Amino acid sequence: MLAAVKTAHEYLDSLRARKLRLFVDGALVTSPVDHPKVRPAINAVAATYALAHDERHAHLATSHSDLVGRRVNRFTALFRERDDLLRKLELQRALGRLTGTCFQRCVGLDGVNALFLATHGRGDAHARFVTWLRGVQERDEMLNGAMTDPKGDRSKRPPEQADHYVRVVERRSDGVVIRGAKIHQTGAANAHQILVMPGQALRPGEEDFAIACALPVDAEGVTMVLGRQPSDERRGGPDAGNARFGGQECVVLFDDVFVPRDHVFLDGDVEACAELVSAFAGYHRASYGGCKPGNLDVLIGAADLVTRQNGVRRASHVRDKLTQMAHLTETIHAIGVGASAKGKVHASGVWQVDTVLANVCKHHVTSLPYEIVRLAEDLAGGAMSTLPSIADLDHPELGETLRLVAGGRERASALRLIESMAYGAGSVPFRIECMHGAGSPQAQRVVLEREIDWDAKVARARVLAGLDPDPDLDGV
Ligand code: SF4
Ligand code: FE
Repeated sequence: MLAAVKTAHEYLDSLRARKLRLFVDGALVTSPVDHPKVRPAINAVAATYALAHDERHAHLATSHSDLVGRRVNRFTALFRERDDLLRKLELQRALGRLTGTCFQRCVGLDGVNALFLATHGRGDAHARFVTWLRGVQERDEMLNGAMTDPKGDRSKRPPEQADHYVRVVERRSDGVVIRGAKIHQTGAANAHQILVMPGQALRPGEEDFAIACALPVDAEGVTMVLGRQPSDERRGGPDAGNARFGGQECVVLFDDVFVPRDHVFLDGDVEACAELVSAFAGYHRASYGGCKPGNLDVLIGAADLVTRQNGVRRASHVRDKLTQMAHLTETIHAIGVGASAKGKVHASGVWQVDTVLANVCKHHVTSLPYEIVRLAEDLAGGAMSTLPSIADLDHPELGETLRLVAGGRERASALRLIESMAYGAGSVPFRIECMHGAGSPQAQRVVLEREIDWDAKVARARVLAGLDPDPDLDGV
C-alpha cells in the first residue's frame, strides 16, 4: 500500500500550504512554487515523488518501513539492509539522468540515517527521533538537511565566534531556542522541515553547538535567502539549457527559533555529534557515486548529440573522447557501488558504507567531472559560448540566415545544455558542488589518512623484502 507516498502533484500542493519567508534578489517572495528562479529546483524534487509512482522505478524509489509498517518514499527510509545502500545509489543515478541536476533530497535521507545511529543507545533521544521520523514517513516530507555553518575565521573555534554557528541560546523545560545560520542549504526552500545538525566534530566546552533538532521551514524566526547561480536570469526560458530542472542552495537564518523538546534529538552530546557527522559524511560521499554519474550521463549524451549534428561522430578521436568520458563516469559510479557493497551493519540496525571507499568516491568527484567537462567543451566547439539566443534563431527576419550560418534550433538546444552544465546554472550542482559538496577535497584526504592502516602495509612490505618472517604464508 502506498498511502504514505505522495505524488508529485501532492508535493507541489503541500509546498503551497507553507508560510515560507523567502527572499529572492532582495524581494520577499509570496509564492515560491510559481517563481521562475525557484520552480526548476522544485521540479527536480518533484521527480523524487513522481518516481515513487512510476512502475519502472517504484522498486527503487520506495522502500518498506518497519517504523510505519508499509512502503514509504526511499528518501525518508532507513538503510535496513546492504541492498538499501545500493538501491539508493541506483535511484540517485536514475534521478541524476532524468533531471540532469541535483534533486536535493539526499541530504535529508543521509542525515536521517546518520541521526538514527547517532542517537541509538543514548537515552530517550532515540525514541524521540524515531517518533519524529515516523511522522516524516507518514507525511512523505522533503527535509532540508542543514549542516554547514558559515564558520567565519577557520582558525577560531565556535565559542570564539559564536555568531558563525547555529547554537542553543536558551534551554527551557519545554525545548530550546536556537540562533545562527546555515549556508549552502541544498533545496531548503523546497522542503517541509529543516533537520539541523552540527557541521563538524565538537569538543568538550562546545556543548551549545552540539545541537541536532527538527523544525518546520516556516517556523517563526526562520528566514531563507536564495543563492544566485550563473545565468539564472535564463531560468525556465529557451536559453536555459535545461529549462525544466535545476538545483538550489539557500542561506537559512535562525533568529531565536524555538524548538519543542520532542524535536530536539541531540543537545550538548559532543560524542554523539561526532558519530553523527562522521556517519553523514560517509553516506553523502558515497551518494555522489549515484547522482553525479547520472548528471554526467546527460552531459555525455549532449556531447554525443552535437558530434552527430556536426557529422563527426565516427571520427576516431571523437569516439575516443566519448569513451573516455564514459570510462571516467563509470569509475565514479563503481566506487560508490563498492562503498555501498562493502557496507557494514551498525548496532542500531542501519547499514553504513565503507568509509575509505566512500571518501575515495567523493575525492574522485572533485576532479574527474572537470576532465569530463573539458572533453565535452572540446567536442562541442566554440559555438557553445558564442551562439545567439534561440529568439534570434527564431526571428522572422533574421532567423533563416542565422540558422544557416550558426546552425539550427536542435543544435542550439544541445549546445545550450552543454553550456549550462559546463558554466551556466546547471554547473553549480554539477561542478562546484562536485568540488565542495559533502566536504571539500582536503576533508576526504584527512579521513583517508586517518582510516588507512599504514602499519599493515609496512608489515607486509617488510615480510616480502625478507626483513621479517612470514606469519601468513609460512612454508609456501
Ligand atoms: Fe543528492 Fe547529489 Fe544533490 Fe547531494 S548533490 S542532494 S547526493 S543529488
Ligand atoms: Fe550535495
